Amino acid sequence: MTFNLSSMRKIYQAADRIEARLLMDYLADHNIHTYLQGDFLAGAAGELPALQFPEIWVAHNADESRALDLIAEYQQKTPGEAWQCPQCGEPLEGSFEICWQCGYSRGSE
Ligand SMILES: [Zn+2]
Repeated sequence: MTFNLSSMRKIYQAADRIEARLLMDYLADHNIHTYLQGDFLAGAAGELPALQFPEIWVAHNADESRALDLIAEYQQKTPGEAWQCPQCGEPLEGSFEICWQCGYSRGSE
C-alpha cells in the first residue's frame, strides 16, 4: 500500500501520545487510516519533548471531513476525568467546564 504525501492532511493536534493513540484507534475502527506525526524526534536527540505535540494526519484527504466529524463525536462521548472545584470543593463530572455550584471556570486556572 502506498501513500501520496500530498494527499495527507493534518486533522488534529493531540495533547499527548495517549490521546492521539486513542483517537487513531477510534478512526481505524471507522476505516480511516491515520498517521501520527510530530513526536518522532522526542528523545532521539536528547531534546525535551515538551513542546512537541503529536499530530494526527489522515492518509487520504478525502477522509478529512469524516475524520473531523468522528473526532468531534468521540470527544462528546468521552468527557474528561471528573474533577473537584478548587474554589468550593464541589465534585464535578468531566463534561462540565464550569462549576455549577459557584461558577468557577476550569479553564481559568
Ligand atoms: Zn465551585
